[in-house]
Parts: sequence; C-alpha cells; structure tokens
Amino acid sequence: MSSSRLAAAYDPEHFRRLGHQLVDQLADHLARTLRREGPVLPWAPPATNVERFPADFPEEPSGDLTALLSRVIEGSHHLHHPRYVGHQVSAPVPLSALCDFASSLLNNGMAVYEMGPVSTAMEHNVLRWMAGVLGMPEGARGVLTSGGSAGNLTALLAARQAKAGFDAWNGGATAGPPLTVLVPESTHYSVSRATKVMGWGAEGVTPVPVDARYRLRPEALEEVLAAAKRAGRRPIAVVASAGSTATGAFDPLEAVADFCEKHGLWFHVDGAHGASTALSPTYRHRVKGIERADSVVWDAHKLMMMPALITAVLFREGNRSFEAFAQEASYLFTGQDTRPWSDVALRTLECTKEMMALKLYASLSVLGTKLFADSVTSTFDLSRRFAERLQAAGDFELAVPPDCNIVCFRHTPQGVPASELDALQVRLRESLVTSGDFYLVQTTLGGRVWLRTTIINPLTTDGDLDALLEALRRAA
Ligand SMILES: *Cc1c(COP(=O)(O)O)cnc(C)c1O
Repeated sequence: MSSSRLAAAYDPEHFRRLGHQLVDQLADHLARTLRREGPVLPWAPPATNVERFPADFPEEPSGDLTALLSRVIEGSHHLHHPRYVGHQVSAPVPLSALCDFASSLLNNGMAVYEMGPVSTAMEHNVLRWMAGVLGMPEGARGVLTSGGSAGNLTALLAARQAKAGFDAWNGGATAGPPLTVLVPESTHYSVSRATKVMGWGAEGVTPVPVDARYRLRPEALEEVLAAAKRAGRRPIAVVASAGSTATGAFDPLEAVADFCEKHGLWFHVDGAHGASTALSPTYRHRVKGIERADSVVWDAHKLMMMPALITAVLFREGNRSFEAFAQEASYLFTGQDTRPWSDVALRTLECTKEMMALKLYASLSVLGTKLFADSVTSTFDLSRRFAERLQAAGDFELAVPPDCNIVCFRHTPQGVPASELDALQVRLRESLVTSGDFYLVQTTLGGRVWLRTTIINPLTTDGDLDALLEALRRAA
C-alpha cells in the first residue's frame, strides 16, 4: 500500500478542512430548509437514484467529498422542513448530529466496557434518568439498542425467559407448550415479527379487540386469555401500546397492569413512539401506569429529536435485562446477578454498536431537559388544534380525536361519491408528495383509506397545517 495514500486518508489537516466544509454545507442546508425553501422530498423513482449514484469507484483518490455530499443533501428527504408531517421520524437537533460524527470517529464499540468506557457509563446513567422520567422504581435498568423493533424482541425474550416455565433458550420453542402474548389489534408489526423470530408461529400473538378510538379494550382481556388457553396456548404477557403506530392511540395501561398482576403475566409497554409523553407535564397522564410495566421500549429517535437509532429497553427489575440473552434457565434468576452490567453486549442483540448514549446524554446536558418536554407539549398541542380545525371544516373528516401528535383524516369535498373517496385520498397524497410541497402518509382504518400526519417537527406551525389543507383542496 502506498504510504502517501494512507497518509492522505488519515491526514488531520485534510480532515479539519473537509469537516469545516461539511458543517458549512449542512448549516446552509438547514437554514434553507427551515425557511421552507426547496422540496420536502425531492421525489424520484428508485431507478433514477440508482443511476445517479453508480458504483464506479476509481482506484486512485480523485473524489470530491463536498460535491458528492452536495448531491446527497439535495436528493435526500428533508426532515427539518416544517412541512414534513409524515412518518414518525424526527428532525434531529443539529447538536445530536455532531455527536454522531464524534461517535463515528472515536468508534467506541462498547460491547465490552473497555471498548467504550465513557459511552457505557453514559448509557447506564441516561437509562436510569429515562426510567426515572417514567416513574419506574430505583432498581430499573436496561440497555440501548438499534430501534424499537430490536427493542421489542429484546423485551419479549426476557419475558419468555421469566414466564415460559421451561427453558426455551436452550431447549428451543418446542421444549414446552406453545407460547403467546396478548396484543391489541393495533399493535406494531415488530411484535408479531419478534414472536415469529422466537419460533411461536402465527398464533404467537393473540389479538385483543380495540374500541372506537383504537385503544385496547381491557374488559375483553379475560375472554381472550381464556380462549387462548382453550386453544392450547400458554399466554405469558400482554403488550400494550403507548402510542400505536397508525393512530397514536394510548392503551389503558393501569387496567392492563392490574390484569397482568392478577394473572401473573409479564406487562410490556411498546412506548417506541409515545413513552416520551412522560416528559410533558401537560400530557404525562396519558402514560399513567407505565411505571408498573415489567419492560418498556422507548425510541429517543422519535419524539426526542434524536437521529436514528437510539432505543431504550427498560426493565422494572433491572437484572431481568440479563435474561433476554441469558444462557441459563429462568429458575436461576435470583434478582441478583454477578455478571458485569458494564459489558453491555451480554444484554443486547448487538455485539458492536455505536456510542449510542452520547447524542442523548450530550443533548440533555447541553440543551437542558425543558426543550424536550416543551417539544412534546407543543407538537401535541398543535395536533389537537389541527384536529379541531379539521372537525370544524365541512370538507374534511377526522378519524379519531388524537391522543398525541398523530392525526388521521380524509378530504371529503362536496360531490365526490363515498365509493370514490379512498381513491381520492391516494391520489391527493401522491400529488402533494411528488410535488415536494408536503410529506404525509396514508393508512387504512376500518377498511377505508385515511391521510395520516405525524407532527413531529417542533418547527411546524398552524400556518403550515392550514397550507396543507389548502393544498389538498386545490389538488382535489
Ligand atoms: C416506530 C415503532 C416501532 C418500531 O420502532 P423502530 O425504531 O422503527 O424499529 C415499534 N412500535 C411502535 C409503536 C412504533 O411506533
């Protein structure tokens, strides 16, 4: 290998120059986007982008990072645009991006303590802080992992180890009766994916009916439990949503906690989207009962303005965290564990991971906690006002009053027959998204198509949402 190539690739002064250019580029992009200039999503079909970024790599250094990144920024989806109101993906606070940058250079993988001494300590303390925000007891502990989907799997593995009554980890899924977990019909697909990964098949989730607002109906739990048992399944847990994905519905956590206590079931809360609600003094009543959960999943990359990925899996009894990937039968669980908590990979799906806690720890340290509380409160308030305007308008229909920052609705202009309304929503969304003026998504509720918005960017205003309704009227 040529030593000059190597020296250039690691040259600190070259790095300094490029880094300054990159920050300038991103700051300019941010400024434009916040002024609502340019498209939200510069829509292009997949084949076009495949052509734009071919794998025609030179043998010798010849590339220009600034030019390449300029094309990346231009072609990417602009989540900081206040008219981005689509999926539950945040507009990260820029400070957090700087931390990811530092994490990539330091590359402290933290599978074992010695490979990430600072990030391991930050992870430990940030998790204890999060458990405290939720009101979980002193002994609550957990891990950070790569997303809510991996988080639900991690929590359900611990639930299985605790409640299956046989050693499924070593003996396999067929070493005992077939297991199942009770979930609201509105549960996120990652829950049934997790039970399928564990080898429980399609009946590994048992659906519990929801009410007209898509919240789990607690009075249905007894019958669903009995029916699952009659069908030869051993139910081990109930999974409640604190913020369902489609409508943002919060299940009645207190009632589910009571039910789990009565029947000796594990109580898991999928709070990937909505656990952040606990930060807001105005809205924290929505997650009352979350502190009684055996395990909670909480994505900081949704309502906490963090870039992907940073998900907390919290266990009320901290040492349950060791059970997820334990190699020992659950009867050995004593509540005490002598394995070192600081070798994090003992308790995570990942072996190597990024310095996950750094961005959240630094953002909380530098920006303060109030910013995060205010962001939840203001996006929820804005969503409520948006829903009120939809209800007041004669040509829009609101699916359900929002529990959080997810609002589902449809445009119902006069003269359009009911049979054509589904197709109209699809066309309207396509028109707005491909024009780049707004980004919103759609969902199916009760067999009908609805437009779906997540007001997740704290810089979105009432004016942006009024403009959205006007754009929909024009497109129709
Ligand atoms: C987003 C979401 C998930 C999945 O989380 P990822 O971080 O995207 O893997 C799981 N459950 C709910 C309720 C969610 O909203």
